[in-house]
Amino acid sequence: MADQLYLWPEDQQGDRLTWSWSKDRRLKDCLRRYYLHHYVSRGGASAGAQPLTREAYLLKNLRNRHMWVGEVVHEMIELGLGALRRGEQASPAALVERGTRRMRAQYAESLQGVYRERPLHACGLMEHEYREEVPKEEWKRQRDRMERCVRAFFELELVAKLEGSPPWRWLALENLTSFDLDGATVLVKPDLAWRDHDDTVVLVDWKTGKARPDDEERQLAVYGLFARRSWVGGGGGLRGVVAHLDDGGVSETNLDDMALARAEASIRSSLATMRALHPEAAGPELRLDRFPVTADAGFCVHCAFKRLCDR
Ligand code: SF4
Repeated sequence: MADQLYLWPEDQQGDRLTWSWSKDRRLKDCLRRYYLHHYVSRGGASAGAQPLTREAYLLKNLRNRHMWVGEVVHEMIELGLGALRRGEQASPAALVERGTRRMRAQYAESLQGVYRERPLHACGLMEHEYREEVPKEEWKRQRDRMERCVRAFFELELVAKLEGSPPWRWLALENLTSFDLDGATVLVKPDLAWRDHDDTVVLVDWKTGKARPDDEERQLAVYGLFARRSWVGGGGGLRGVVAHLDDGGVSETNLDDMALARAEASIRSSLATMRALHPEAAGPELRLDRFPVTADAGFCVHCAFKRLCDR
């Protein structure tokens, strides 16, 4: 792929720039990955897509087994919280059972390569795409991790607080929403937002991987920017909670004006970099050498694009 010149399609030029936490992570972790994910894969779902575009699109929709567990855990918690919001019971045992069935079905689907025909709708695991040898015990460990995380969530103190809460206290549950910043659309998707008894807006994020306190605080502060625009009146409080489900740790952070100002400044700086790389500024000829590979090979281990990136 090294010599290929990618031309940004004319009908996509002038698109509004979007920013999200995950897009910013790609930008910072590896410019090559950012390029393959956000530019080369564009249009890869259409029947007439070029082979390179199609391949990039397919790869960007893969996940590794660790991310996969995180997705299933999020899905099961969302189902459980949905039941609580409707005033019903949430049964962790039933959710674990459902999550296990889901993982079995998705594993089989991935093994059969269904995702090659339907990349967006079928589960595709990197381990299958790259024919990695993963022992059965490791897959079993991942299933067990899913169970541990789902059960840990429903033991959190906040779940007891949410039980029986009136609907108006629930502000968001895995809702994708956005706000405008400097002419760009900032996309946010808090796991959960609710209004506590003292009127404080609480933003909750749950994690199934390793704790990264700085990142987590910044991510909650980005959600806080949306919350302040939408739910927090003058002087109202805003708090962030991160639950680490794999080890049961919970951390709280006060999302004050300073934390939010830092988050806004960091989005602005990230948007400036994105704009400089975007076709409107850089021109429709997106040359690969403008998007170098990362110097930190650690990012490559779990990167779905390794086949395309020429590292
Ligand atoms: S394999 Fe490594 S260098 Fe290549 S795109 Fe992925 S993270 Fe970047």
